[in-house]
Amino acid sequence: AITPIKRALISVSDKTGLIELGHDLASRGIEILSTGGTAKALRDANLTVIDVAEITGFPEMMDGRVKTLHPAVHGGLLALRDDPAHRAAMDEHGIGAIDLLVVNLYPFEETVAKGADYDDCVENIDIGGPAMIRAAAKNHAHVAVVVDVQDYDALREALDQGGTTLALRQTLAQTAYARTAAYDAAVSTWMARAIGEATPRRRAFAGTLAQGLRYGENPHQSAAFYATGEARQGVATAKQWQGKELSYNNINDTDAAFELVAEFDPSEGAACAIIKHANPCGVARADNALDAYRRAYDCDRTSAFGGIVALNRSLDADTASAITEIFTEVVIAPGASDEAREIFAGKKNLRLLTTDGLPDPSAAGQVFRQVSGGFLVQDRDNGRISAADLRVVSKRQPTDDEMADLLFAWRVAKHVKSNAIVYAKDLATVGIGAGQMSRVDSTRIGQRKSQDMAEALSLPLPLTIGAAVASDAFFPFADGIEALAGAGAKAVIQPGGSVKDDEVIAAADRLGLAMVLTGQRHFRH
Ligand code: 5GP
Repeated sequence: AITPIKRALISVSDKTGLIELGHDLASRGIEILSTGGTAKALRDANLTVIDVAEITGFPEMMDGRVKTLHPAVHGGLLALRDDPAHRAAMDEHGIGAIDLLVVNLYPFEETVAKGADYDDCVENIDIGGPAMIRAAAKNHAHVAVVVDVQDYDALREALDQGGTTLALRQTLAQTAYARTAAYDAAVSTWMARAIGEATPRRRAFAGTLAQGLRYGENPHQSAAFYATGEARQGVATAKQWQGKELSYNNINDTDAAFELVAEFDPSEGAACAIIKHANPCGVARADNALDAYRRAYDCDRTSAFGGIVALNRSLDADTASAITEIFTEVVIAPGASDEAREIFAGKKNLRLLTTDGLPDPSAAGQVFRQVSGGFLVQDRDNGRISAADLRVVSKRQPTDDEMADLLFAWRVAKHVKSNAIVYAKDLATVGIGAGQMSRVDSTRIGQRKSQDMAEALSLPLPLTIGAAVASDAFFPFADGIEALAGAGAKAVIQPGGSVKDDEVIAAADRLGLAMVLTGQRHFRH
């Protein structure tokens, strides 16, 4: 069955497509009710409009806070047309049915995003709009509700058929509740930040659809990317210059890459990270981006194929050329020179993303993860150690070079899946063991990768010899230290805190390793 539309209420902040819609309704003899700004825009286009104030008998007041909050509006939206008691109430109070509601809300999210002050944000919390949307959506048995300019076409198609079907009204109602839920979540999220609650005890998550994805982690999984509006530089805010649409895995890996490289302040030199499956296969610092890229690549050339490359500095032409020498999925950097972009233009499949800066690794924020029947929320791991926080527990003091490598390896280890072991030398990773169930296995894997690279590059010895090593969590036994010493490592950084710390430190002393404790762990499961 098709329900015809005789009367519509339009109240929109975003006036895109409004005039066309107004003409489409008017040409079908549909009466239009409207609020101040919307009515004016429609009248300016020579359309006939009835002011909501005329049917409520009240002017819009209190800076627009009260416009449509009236039984003449809400009764018209909520009345069950086929219920005699509802009909009688309409007749008694002179309430006319409203069959179509077109509302888009005060631009609260945009107001927050542009950095407006507290009062301005408060004033942009729409009250009457969500109230009408929820009323119309509840009464979807009779009323159609449109909250998104993108749905005007579907509405138009329905009008061509003489009205709306229940199926369409149900879909529109579902969309409507998603919109009001996201809107209130955005208000709550802003408010938590505004009043300084870093980790609110009650948390609503707001997201707006940024991109429908072709599929999820695997082709049989459907997927989408939602933006939370968080003002953090990264894959959600980046500009894509070229290449196919990002996939689910691309977005996940690009995020991992950029978050990692942002650990290294660009004023202290260039840094490059190459990521595969959300783990780094090479990270390096150097004076310039080209050297950083080359050294990151040399950590594990095999794995780097088809990887994601992140830089902490603007992409220059030399680095762009070097990157194009192998197949790379995505490059992300805080900017790119014109020459670099021209070099990439010849590689149609390579996606280039640029941002306006790096994400702040110390900034507060939350991350969440779904589990069966719920989700986990935690603060972002923004822990950062500097040399002054470290405690040397071995007999041998680390040298200055070892200390620099230890801190470098530690920053990288934070971004490696646990159990994480990172071997580093001269501010470049030379072996990474990631995501193992045993720390000793991660130690062995990092060593073996380094041996493979030494063979591939015809180096006389693997670079784990003389390396500094970071472990994301403590060593439960001395066997991990023995394995590191066997690989030729000379210095270790780890949180400490194991009941066997004494044994672990004794092993380091016996094997001549320097050991420093951070007192902070970087699990990443
Ligand atoms: P207009 O530009 O037509 O003057 O205002 C349109 C906006 O007002 C829409 O975004 C709509 O959601 C909002 N709106 C409609 N009624 C009310 C109300 O009673 N209170 C508030 N705060 N906003 C309303």
